[in-house]
Formats: sequence, structure tokens, C-alpha cells
Amino acid sequence: MTRTVIRGGLVVTAAEEMHADVLIEGERVVALAAYGTSVAEGWTADREIDARGLYVVPGGVDAHTHMELPFGGTSASDTFETGTRAAAWGGTTTIVDFAVQSVGATLRAGLDAWHAKADGNCAIDYGFHMILADVNEHSLKEMDLLVAEGVSSFKLFMAYPGVFYSDDGQILRAMQRGADNGGLVMMHAENGLAIDVLVEQALAAGHTDPRYHGEVRRELLEAEAVHRAIKLSQVAGSPLYVVHVSAASAVAELAAARDQGLNVFGETCPQYLYLSTDNLAEPGFEGAKYVCSTPLRPKEHQAALWKGLRTNDLQVVSTDHCPFCFVGQKELGRGDFSKIPNGLPGVENRMDLLHQAVVDGHISRRRWIEIACATPARMFGLYPRKGTIAPGADADIVLYDPTATQTLSAQTHHMNVDYSAYEGRQLTGRVRTVLSRGTVVVDDNRWFGRAGHGRFQPRATCQYLI
Ligand SMILES: [Zn+2]
Repeated sequence: MTRTVIRGGLVVTAAEEMHADVLIEGERVVALAAYGTSVAEGWTADREIDARGLYVVPGGVDAHTHMELPFGGTSASDTFETGTRAAAWGGTTTIVDFAVQSVGATLRAGLDAWHAKADGNCAIDYGFHMILADVNEHSLKEMDLLVAEGVSSFKLFMAYPGVFYSDDGQILRAMQRGADNGGLVMMHAENGLAIDVLVEQALAAGHTDPRYHGEVRRELLEAEAVHRAIKLSQVAGSPLYVVHVSAASAVAELAAARDQGLNVFGETCPQYLYLSTDNLAEPGFEGAKYVCSTPLRPKEHQAALWKGLRTNDLQVVSTDHCPFCFVGQKELGRGDFSKIPNGLPGVENRMDLLHQAVVDGHISRRRWIEIACATPARMFGLYPRKGTIAPGADADIVLYDPTATQTLSAQTHHMNVDYSAYEGRQLTGRVRTVLSRGTVVVDDNRWFGRAGHGRFQPRATCQYLI
């Protein structure tokens, strides 16, 4: 079995910061020892990695990606192969993607289809959530089977009538089932029926530009849906995880529920922390690059999101990575913003953008690791195999240079998409080396990974309940 020692770095986990050497045997971490001590110096290894001056952090866990997702008559432009490779370049070593149930079909058929897309193609480890698009007696029963085989979370939509939408009765039934079988309900919380009325009225008034996407998807309709989802979960006695929270008033709903002691959790994404309706209003059709749902909000909302991340009213930052090329895909919505495919690229940028938040003083170093690695692993039943550096954990480890600088750009990123939502943004900090289960996949700007190294990760139920 290959023995690797990572020497002299500052090991940062959600709980600790320590100057320690890390001993890896095969695919797992087996020990940590204080740097410079006889114990650490006594370790012999096949490979020594010098981490002096670097952070040694757990590989990122991105719990919200959509590789190859069919949406709006096209498909997300990253495959499992290109998307997981880009993730690794950015220091993320586990993704949890969304398998999709088609209306009229079984969960099994959807899950099998997504396994077929991912199997043999991923550069890093991956798991699946299941999108419940058709809640009925049969699919409710199937939820139990999926939980038992490690697909332990289910996304429902209060948005997108006619596509993924569930009504309140269906949502309540799915939550009740989750309360029984341990499945965690993840909610896209926006009032889709009301939004569709506003879309129709906007288009009739000749308001067709991308910025109207942000205007019709009103903040009130996010807050209302979050409130309603919380009440339904309270009736069902189930926990609730709200995906991609973007509005200050939605954070307030989550905070109020948590103050009551409820198992209610919230995720936000880098695009809501760093971008705004100013981007949606960029001249010409440029705003289409920033069309996603929930939409980007006015800049004022960012302070509430950062505060939520500091106070733990928001627990996780995922990307909702769902890239569509500007040319040929986003362009489907020229002259009608409602036809712009919803989604942004970001899986490669999350760890760096959140490290920048450490540099900028929004969050602490340990909180960076908590919201990007440890909590998503706990929330979705992957801890402590993923999300930390500890004896027994998978050796998913990033050596991070906190002083290197970089400029984000479509010219240099590895995502299969023709633009960057952060083009030209300068960041302090960058990935130096990435290990996935003990194997070096990225080192010093060179790629050593391979499609098929990544394995499906069956997950336990939520490990984050109060
Ligand atoms: Zn999503």
C-alpha cells in the first residue's frame, strides 16, 4: 500500500487549525502528528509532499451540481467527465448531483439513467440526490428503497409548473415519507404559479430582456415559498433543506424557524454572494450569462447572506453548477427572457471564491472549510469519510496556497462553457495540489487525474439534525 506524508502545512478543518504532518496509507488518512515532533519525523513514506507555507484542507464537497442536465430544450454543457475534472481543478473532490425523475416514470428509471451517465466518467467521487418530479403512491414507496441504497435526499420544486412542480399536497406527502424513512427534502422555494403570471404580463408589455428575469421572480415570492415550505415541514415533522437561497427576506424566514428550534437549513451559492441584478442588466444580451433561479438579487441582499453564513442561519455554500454556453444555448432566449436556460457555471470557482471571503474578512478560515466541506458532508450523510482530515477519512486533500493570486477567466478555466460569470475577477489564493482518495489528480498546474477514478458514494441519512 502506498504511504504518503504531507509535511509542514497548516491543517485546517472545520474544528481545528494545526501545524501537522498527515500520513496517508492507500486511499485513507491514517494519522496526524504535530510538525517537527519525533512521531512525525519517524514516519517513512513512498512519497513526501512538502506543504510548508500552504494550507492542508479537506477536498471541497459541492452538494449541488447539474452535469448534463436536460433543461429548456437543451442540456447543461458540462458532462460528468468535464464537470468533475473542472471541480478537481478548483479543489472540490466530491459532488452530489441530481438524478431526475421524469413525469410519468419511476424514480428507478431516472436514477439508472444518471448512473449510466456518471459511471466510468467521473474524475472525483460523486453521489446523487433524486429530483421528485412526480409525487404519487408509487414514487413515495420508491423513496424508501433509494434511501436504503444511499440516495438519501429528494429535491422538490415549488417552481416550474408543468416541469418539476409539485403542489402543496404532494410536497406534504413527500415530507411525511421523509420523516419516516430519513430522506431529507430539499426545496426549490419560489412560487412558480405566481411567477408564471408575472412572466406572461412582462412579455405582453414587451419586457423581453434578461433583466426582467430578475424582476418577475420577485423576492416576496421566494420568501413566501420558504415560509410555506417551513410550515409544511413542521406539519410533516420532517427536516427541510432550502436550496440556493438568494433573498434577505428568505434568510429571515429560515432564521425565524431555526430560532424555534426547527431542523430547517439553508444553502446559498457564490453567485448570490458576488453577483447581483447589475450583472443581469449588463448591456445587449450579456445579462443572459447570469440568468439562474432563484435569480440574482440587488447588491443589498449580499450582506444578509454573509451574515447568515456567519450566524449559521445558512449552513452550506454549493454552486448549483448548471452551465450553458452563451453561444447557441443562452441565445435561445434572445427576445424572450423566459426561454433563456437557467443556470451558471461555478463548480471550479467555489473554493477560491470562498477563500477570498476569508481574505475579505467575511468569514473565518475554519468557517470556510465548514460551509464548503464539513457541513455539506454532514448534511448529506458523507461524514467523516468526506469533509474533514482525520484518521479514517478518505484522503481527499487540497494543498492550498493562500498568497498566490489568480484571475478568473473563460480562457483559463476547465469548465466546458464559453464564458465565466466572474471574468477578470482577481482572487488571492489558489489550489496547488489535489488528492482524491490518496491519488494526486492536480499538482502545480498539471493534470494527473483520469475519468473513472471517481466512485459512486452511497450516503447515510442527514447527520446534521438538531
Ligand atoms: Zn439546482
